[in-house]
This record gives sequence, structure tokens and C-alpha cells, in this order.
Amino acid sequence: MSTTAKVTMKLEQPVHAGTGPLPDYRNPTHDHIPGSVLRGACAAAWIRALGAPAPGTAHRQAFIETFESDGVFGPLHRAGSLPVPISVLVHKYEAEPDCQQLWWDRSLGEDATECPDCGQGLEAAKGEPREPPEERPEWLLRRTRAALTTDGVAKDEQLYRKDSLARRQVLTGWVSAAAVQAFDVGGEPVQRLWLGGGRTTGGLARVTVDPDAEPEALETDGSAVVLRLASSGIFVDVTGLPADVPSREELRGVLGVEVVSVVRWMRWGEAAGWHAAAGLAKPTERVVTAGSTYRVECDRAPSQEALRALRVRGLGLRRREGFGALCPPLDPPTSTPASVIP
Ligand SMILES: [Zn+2]
Repeated sequence: MSTTAKVTMKLEQPVHAGTGPLPDYRNPTHDHIPGSVLRGACAAAWIRALGAPAPGTAHRQAFIETFESDGVFGPLHRAGSLPVPISVLVHKYEAEPDCQQLWWDRSLGEDATECPDCGQGLEAAKGEPREPPEERPEWLLRRTRAALTTDGVAKDEQLYRKDSLARRQVLTGWVSAAAVQAFDVGGEPVQRLWLGGGRTTGGLARVTVDPDAEPEALETDGSAVVLRLASSGIFVDVTGLPADVPSREELRGVLGVEVVSVVRWMRWGEAAGWHAAAGLAKPTERVVTAGSTYRVECDRAPSQEALRALRVRGLGLRRREGFGALCPPLDPPTSTPASVIP
């Protein structure tokens, strides 16, 4: 069994990859498929085909190995759904059409306080998607519905909005180690998955798994490696308390070189979750948000092999649930936003 595989998903129906309902009427979706949603969809496919992995069943051991061991289910993204790195300075408001530069990436030594072309002030990115849904509304479906009574009559003041990723879009990501075998159910390759909530009304996606694809090596700048989180990361210090940076021991272990220093551009956040199989709320974790960026100075450049392995492995705790995933090397936009997006 291959140790990594590239997963390509084409959405055949709208997918609601929920972030959880907000206190108001909105029920938003992630603009990508989080690793936890991919993992849940694969586990559901196993259970549909083989039954629940109860004690004594033939597939119980394989199920536990696949979904509860060291395998990583990474998030699935379009290029435009990846977060803008928090190390990047951007125009505070919209750039002018003749602005030559749109990103100033402090992790690569760039810095500025204002755009030399339009004179506008710059501010740090917050890890928002590179291509916000407002700019490409065809990626996102927003449906406002009314809650119904048992008689099928709309209830007063009970409108709610449920967002979904529109069909036809293609998203890609990586799985590694035991997670690769999640796409093989009892000897049959998985070709379709139901993703996210509302599986009776949508969420169908066509799946292609390529075990021969080679992951991109992470970005380097001399002997430094630039790490950009594609999903929230959970890091702890030696006492087990939340940390805002991956541990040097972990970095040394995966990069195979000595770590001289780590410079960070990060934001704190919180992650809650629901364990569907157990029917229990997962503990709320203090996390470092997607887009957080680390420049790791090493005593020498890590090998390409180590950079490819880390790209798929990710960093920190609960990686099998999609935390701590890393972005592919980013291609910064260099001209006006309209021409950046093909
Ligand atoms: Zn400008």
C-alpha cells in the first residue's frame, strides 16, 4: 500500500461542509472540504458497505487501523479556497487596477507599510480564503428556507439560510499512511462519497485516488522552510499547554535537520467538533488558525524527500482528523485581482 495518495473530488451535488450553525439564522459552509469531513465520509462508506465495526466483525481491525491510527486525512481545496498566509500584507481596501504588487510576504523578508502604486495602507491578512466567495459567487449556493410545521406550513420568523459548495467544482488534497486504505472498501475502490451534512439531499462527489502522484515539496528560502497551515493546527508545549508554534522536536524529526529558529505569524482560534460515531461532542481545543505561517531556519536545507513527506503529514496533534494540514507552495498574485484568477 502506497504511503501517500492524491485525492481528487468532483462535486456532483451541492455539499454542505458545515462550520456549525451561527447564533443567527445562518448555517455556513467551509469553502473547502475539511479533512474531518473526508474522514467521516470514508468511514460512512465503510459502514454502509460492511456494517458497523462492532467487536467480533471481520473488518473491525482494518477499520480501526484505517480511521484511528497514524493516517492523515488532509483537507481538499481549490487553489482559491486556500487561506491567504497571515505573514502576508495586503491592501487594506481593494487594490487599484494598476497596482503591481498584491502580497508582501514577511516570511520571505518582504515588508512595506503602504502600496507604492496607490499609496494605500497595508494590513496583515487574517487567513481568509484567497478568493472570497463574494468574488466568485458561483462556488457557493446560498439558500434561504423557512422552517415548516408538521402540517407543512412555514413557521413565522423561522427563516434560515443554509450555504453549500456548488456542484461541478474540483477539489484536491492528500491522504497518507493508513488513511490511503480508506478508499478501498473490502477490495472495491471507492468511486463516490457522500460529503458533509444533509447526506439525503446532497453531498455526492466523484472520487479519484492516485497513489503514484508525488506531493509538492514545501517552500524553502535558502536553508529556511516556510510552513503555512491549510487548516487549524493544535500544538502543545512540553507541559501539554497550548503552544503557538510547532515543537522543535517534531520539526527536527520530520525535516531531518537542526532547527535554528522559528519565526511565527499566527492567530489563535477555537475548534469544536462532533464525533458522529460516538454521538459525543469533542473537546473544544485552542488552535492556531489556518493561514498561520512559520519560517523555520535550519542549519542546512532539508532534503526534497523530507519536504514532500512533511507536506502531506502536517504538524501537531489530531492530524488524522485534519488538523495541522499544510498548504502547497503558494504562487502569490502579482497583478490585479481580476487577472490573478484564471
Ligand atoms: Zn496599491
